[in-house]
Amino acid sequence: MDHAAVAEEARSRPGTWVFAAVYASLASAASAVRRVPLAERMPSYGPAGAFEAYAVTTVEGPSLWVRSTGGGPYPPFPARMSVRIPVAGPDLGEVGVITVSVLPYCQTCGGPRGWDRVQPAEVILQEAAVVVDRWANPCGHDDVYADVLEEARRTPPAVDPETSRGRGHHPGDPSRAGAFQAAVELILQAATNQRGMHAKQAAALLRLHGHTEAADLVEAQLRAEHGHLSAKQSAHFLTVEGTARRSALSTTRQETHA
Ligand SMILES: [Zn+2]
Repeated sequence: MDHAAVAEEARSRPGTWVFAAVYASLASAASAVRRVPLAERMPSYGPAGAFEAYAVTTVEGPSLWVRSTGGGPYPPFPARMSVRIPVAGPDLGEVGVITVSVLPYCQTCGGPRGWDRVQPAEVILQEAAVVVDRWANPCGHDDVYADVLEEARRTPPAVDPETSRGRGHHPGDPSRAGAFQAAVELILQAATNQRGMHAKQAAALLRLHGHTEAADLVEAQLRAEHGHLSAKQSAHFLTVEGTARRSALSTTRQETHA
């Protein structure tokens, strides 16, 4: 891993995400994501605050991406990317267009998808004109609609049937989680694909994606529960925490205006 060369390249293109390295384990990638912005034991990325980092697992393994903050701030990653794609197939009914939600990372290299360059395009399906979305990924890897559809099925927009059942409200609904919405979505998506996922893994995942505060809260709760906490329970906990903070905020605002 030549971090000096990576840092130099990233500095020459501030605000642009640059591929840095593939790690042997999720934990070591998560550690790098934490240390790059601090330039901690990674002097190439100094001074502290000069770089941002994230990691995402690709076919190659946990991949670290960095960008220089020089001239920034630059737009943060969205939690998801929603696009209209053409669909056809017996299980989807007639030919048409559906809006699907996928993660904003290239599935090949882990680089940012072209979530900020989505353009409508008119295509002809079964002799009818329909509007779908097109986007170019900065890394040059093209997304194929069939793969995007398959990915959207594999990682559906977060819904937690366990916590949303009964009681007439939906604590598992990420939109209730306020500031922790993206963190809750991440956990619920991962938990959908991984049965019996533990809160410890949820915390590692959050760190990997830069949700430091949410990761700290989950770990504190994990200690309070003496290690007995599932990933889904941690998502529920963050949702309750996020909802409570939102109400606290609105109370403060009312008091200010009173
Ligand atoms: Zn790519």
